Amino acid sequence: KAAGRNTHCFYEAGMSARLASRNRLELDLREAVSAGQFLLHYQPALDLLHPAVSGCEALVRWMHPRQGLIGPGEFISLAEETGLIARLGGWILREACREASTWPGDMRVAVNVSAVQFERPGLEHNVAAALAVSGLAPHRLELEITESVLMRDSEAVLACLHRLRTLGVRIALDDFGTGYSSLSYLRRFPFDKIKIDRSFIGEIDKPETAAIVRAIVGLGSDLGARITAEGVETQDQLPFVRQKGCQEMQGYLLSRPLAAPELRRFLARTPELARAA
Ligand code: C2E
Ligand code: MG
Ligand code: MG
Ligand code: MG
Repeated sequence: KAAGRNTHCFYEAGMSARLASRNRLELDLREAVSAGQFLLHYQPALDLLHPAVSGCEALVRWMHPRQGLIGPGEFISLAEETGLIARLGGWILREACREASTWPGDMRVAVNVSAVQFERPGLEHNVAAALAVSGLAPHRLELEITESVLMRDSEAVLACLHRLRTLGVRIALDDFGTGYSSLSYLRRFPFDKIKIDRSFIGEIDKPETAAIVRAIVGLGSDLGARITAEGVETQDQLPFVRQKGCQEMQGYLLSRPLAAPELRRFLARTPELARAA
């Protein structure tokens, strides 16, 4: 009020500008899904017990015709709001399984699945089809879900998770520890893996955080889940992560997410990398 009327007008102008750019992005996103302007990058994870790359997480990127490469933080929530995630998510599953079927040995691929994909019919069908077409063994596919999937507290979601598990697919709980009531979700479903959010790893040198990580690892092993430390960035964090008993690590220290050809080169070098870590 003190600033006078112009401030109010300016505010409204700002709002409509934001709305216009959101609408623009939505149109672009629709076009992108039809035109196939997406690609996947793959971030390797290291098995700390038997040093080797155990698998890679598929992370989607949008090759925007004018803006260049855009990260998922800028379009996944819009894809969810508009329902476009259903088609995009189907493509991500097929592409990740196809690529993983060319990887050596038993290397797994992890695919992030959003809550909206669970609310629509077709997820199980998409998963089964991606496996069938690629020929990837089901145990080499891991689906990463966050609490937001279980927050819906629906029997239908749990039943769907159990059926996916029956296909032989593994289920991981992503970004563990960041939600409001993380522990309660561990009662609802027997996860194959728990990924400790990188905000904990970033301060794992603090005694309080180290104690929490140790407790999560203990809980995980009692529940039969493997524990991955996400976002390991520095050499200093690695002994902590090992000492607390995490079975797996992922983060910039090992590698950033890589385009498929870069990943192939990375894997060719892994024996030494595995020993160095
Ligand atoms: P997320 O599943 O927890 O993925 C980890 C994110 O952390 C990735 O960001 C990765 O690049 C980043 N990261 C990995 N290591 C480090 C590190 O050492 N330090 C730091 N600072 N960051 C690290 P990205 O690719 O931007 O993805 C962000 C989020 O977008 C993902 O979080 C996931 O929730 C979502 N997302 C990505 N790809 C997909 C997808 O294909 N489908 C769906 N539904 N969501 C996706
Ligand atoms: Mg993830
Ligand atoms: Mg995560
Ligand atoms: Mg995340």
